[in-house]
Amino acid sequence: MKLGFVGLGIMGQPMALNLLRGGHELTVWNRTAAACGPLREAGAAVAPSPAALAAISDITFAMLADPAAALAVACGPGGVGEGLRAGGGYVDMSTVDAATSAQIAAAMTARGGRFLEAPVSGSRQPAEQGTLVILAAGDEDLYDEAAPALDLLGKKRLYLGGVGNGARMKLVVNMVMGGMMTAFCEGLTLARATGLAPADVLEVLDAGAIANPMFRGKGPRMLAGDYAVAFPLKHMSKDLRLARALATAAGADLPASAAADDSFARALGDGDGDLDFSALLRTVDRPAVRP
Ligand code: NAP
Repeated sequence: MKLGFVGLGIMGQPMALNLLRGGHELTVWNRTAAACGPLREAGAAVAPSPAALAAISDITFAMLADPAAALAVACGPGGVGEGLRAGGGYVDMSTVDAATSAQIAAAMTARGGRFLEAPVSGSRQPAEQGTLVILAAGDEDLYDEAAPALDLLGKKRLYLGGVGNGARMKLVVNMVMGGMMTAFCEGLTLARATGLAPADVLEVLDAGAIANPMFRGKGPRMLAGDYAVAFPLKHMSKDLRLARALATAAGADLPASAAADDSFARALGDGDGDLDFSALLRTVDRPAVRP
């Protein structure tokens, strides 16, 4: 099968490589052309535009920053929608809101194409290892056709029904994750402010019922001031903003998640958007840890 991949950022780069290593003929495109270099070296072709890429691909995958990027690449000038063949598939794996996804789905089906949203749970390392969790919704035939490729990217995939369900599921998951990170940062800050050793907090948390891979993996690096990016803080802030809007539209009153959204918005305002989202600690615990 001829595959295409647009959006070669932190996630897209290793995901595209996994498709290539899985034996697929692959064409790539990225807004900033330099990001195509490693894929070209690994054997991928490079297209001049998303439209040109979609025109020669059976299925085009996308991994883009946010709703504006997803819309620009799908529906903008030179976008996937201009090139998609009748019956061609577009699988958008970006984290966006359901309305954006529905808009893209409508544009693709209006051209006679097929659309699947497939946002993912898991960060840079699972993307590299092909162990993401894929939250798919939309055209079920396309889901079945894309399954062998999706299985190169993820260890688990769910088909959640109509367009929007994957987007909403992803926002629910990241709302929980953003709230957890906020509580974790506040716990470390309270420990430090009251004379406890934050390293002891990590040990205690890890021994109990709320131990989890995120605290275990990120905690020691956070205490060392290492915020090398895996999941950019700006994207966590985007996801909490979208989840908050989803809650408002659904009439759900979620004050803790709204507070987490406010905290990440403050961290974004502090200029930490390109650091890992665990850099929230710098904003929460500013006097103690900010250099
Ligand atoms: P990233 O490193 O910031 O990459 C974003 C990609 O979007 C880049 O290829 C970028 O191109 C492209 N882009 C941005 N604006 C664009 C525009 N207007 N037109 C065309 N292309 C545009 O982000 P990422 O971490 O890979 O995340 C990608 C998506 O996956 C996001 O929706 C994120 O929320 C989600 N996600 C991320 C993680 C994670 O841990 N990183 C985990 C799960 C889900 P340039 O190279 O030209 O900037």
